[in-house]
Amino acid sequence: MCGIVAYVGGRDSVPVLLEGLARLEYRGYDSAGIAVLGRGGDLRVRKVKGRVADLAADLPARLKGSPGIGHTRWATHGEPSDENAHPHSCGPIAIVHNGIIENADELRAKLAAAGAQFASETDSELVAHLIAAGPDGDLEEAVRLALKQVVGTYGLAIIDTRSPDRIVVARNGSPVLLGIGDKEMFAASDVAALVRYCRQVVHLDDGEIATIRADGFRTSTLDARRTTKQAAVIETDATSYDADGHAHFMHKEIHEQPQVVERVLRGRLDDRFATAHLGGLNMDPREARAIRRVKILGCGSAYYSGLLGAQLIEELARVPADAEPASEFRYRSPVIEEGTLYIAVSQSGETYDTLAAVQEVKRKGGRAIGVINTVGSTIARECEGGVYLHAGPEVSVTSTKTFTATATVFALLALHLARIRDLSPADGQRIVTGLRQLPGQIAEILAMEEEIAAAAKDFAEYPGMFFIGRVRGWPVAREGAQKLKEVSYLHAEAYPASELKHGPLALVGPALPTVAVLPEDELLEKNLGTLGEIRARQGRVLVIGHSGVAGRVTDDVLVVPRNEPELDPILLSVPLQLLAYHAAVALGNDVDKPRNLAKSVTVE
Ligand code: GLU
Repeated sequence: MCGIVAYVGGRDSVPVLLEGLARLEYRGYDSAGIAVLGRGGDLRVRKVKGRVADLAADLPARLKGSPGIGHTRWATHGEPSDENAHPHSCGPIAIVHNGIIENADELRAKLAAAGAQFASETDSELVAHLIAAGPDGDLEEAVRLALKQVVGTYGLAIIDTRSPDRIVVARNGSPVLLGIGDKEMFAASDVAALVRYCRQVVHLDDGEIATIRADGFRTSTLDARRTTKQAAVIETDATSYDADGHAHFMHKEIHEQPQVVERVLRGRLDDRFATAHLGGLNMDPREARAIRRVKILGCGSAYYSGLLGAQLIEELARVPADAEPASEFRYRSPVIEEGTLYIAVSQSGETYDTLAAVQEVKRKGGRAIGVINTVGSTIARECEGGVYLHAGPEVSVTSTKTFTATATVFALLALHLARIRDLSPADGQRIVTGLRQLPGQIAEILAMEEEIAAAAKDFAEYPGMFFIGRVRGWPVAREGAQKLKEVSYLHAEAYPASELKHGPLALVGPALPTVAVLPEDELLEKNLGTLGEIRARQGRVLVIGHSGVAGRVTDDVLVVPRNEPELDPILLSVPLQLLAYHAAVALGNDVDKPRNLAKSVTVE
């Protein structure tokens, strides 16, 4: 789930590991550690509960060596503590592990019966014991034999004092990639850790194992069959991982949105036929016409962007569409219908629940495509086609620019499907023109930052907020509530405006304000009626809406530029990001690394 970095080569691995771990900090973690083989071939391990900076401060200057492995942990088995932090060692072996060993209890009992003593409560330590019990002098084979006893997910990196020239890495359900340097090799769980050091990477597949040495690498399956791999060039550089003068990555990423949306649209709009083209879909018009239903799968904000996408697809293309949390879908034995297009949404392309949902769809003969940010990621490779966001790395744990980029991709897809069906050229052109206006209009919203920050400060004084919206505004309200929860830790709950009087209105009063998403669309009168009900109970309201709304209410209003009604939800989401950001800043929170959360959730 969290971070792995490994290095073998001529330099001292310690600074490389620390730098790599610092680059992985954005994923959220609770402890950090490294293990290196010193000059004399001795194994040296340092690990602490806390930040990478705490680990760095704890390292003796004499601690040097190569190869080395490093880890940031997001605890699943055993509380965050120095003992439970990785690396875990057993005799000559030290390992770092991402993921979950599902048969940990059984393995622990078996190892304990054979006399093993454990230094931690983690599932990961058991793997170190299994490997240490393997054949002497052949680390790869020892890892292979150990992994045959393991049920669960892992990204692993292992060093052994008896094989001081190499690191063995393995992957099953938790990403591992190799970085190719000049007479040195790297491995990591995320390309962010490698951007400073190399341009070429190799993605391992599930069930693969690799031995890396300074002069190269070899890969094979768990059954020792050799595999051949193709190196990919890293698209991003180290500057994408710098905050660039912004106080937080979240702030930087919110402000990148005009450029990101422009990139999403580039080369995809077609004025001649008033439509959009998405090259990666791998679907000809006949296949696209045959789609009877669309089901969007994602988790967290990816799911909420899917709700927004489903609304766009159903409204424009008149194809029944809905979104469902991938984490639920995968467990409820879903009926996979012929003619349904399944769309998996994931920023990282590594979200385990979403991957499992895609695998369930495929196993039952369904067709799944991806809307993914990370090129070459596991879900992207698992899907039959799809659209990359090209939003650049998103470092802040809470997503902003990838939400907007995903929503824009859905608008393109909706337009594409709509123009193959019944949408008129005139309406198609209306959407094409509207899409072109998005980047400039997002920039206008960003220019309102001061006003939004003042509102955020004001509303952050309350213990929580309701978020309401109707139909197009409903996914916006849900994502707005999610953002606020994630970074401000204020209680936020979203309701369809239409549902308020069916229950939640009982809570409305002077102590609970409401954020109302209020586009100037055909539902405006209904929404104004709902506001009246709130006001009658002395509930305070912050309206996110259009200029025509401002004159009709007495509440605080943040006026957002108007686009086409179908596209307005994309714009209405942006002020809610800034609202959450400034509420979190006002409350003094760790904005980029909210408590308890991790960036890409690669565990169940
Ligand atoms: N399950 C392991 C632990 O709790 C690994 C967690 C991780 O992926 O960081 O230590």
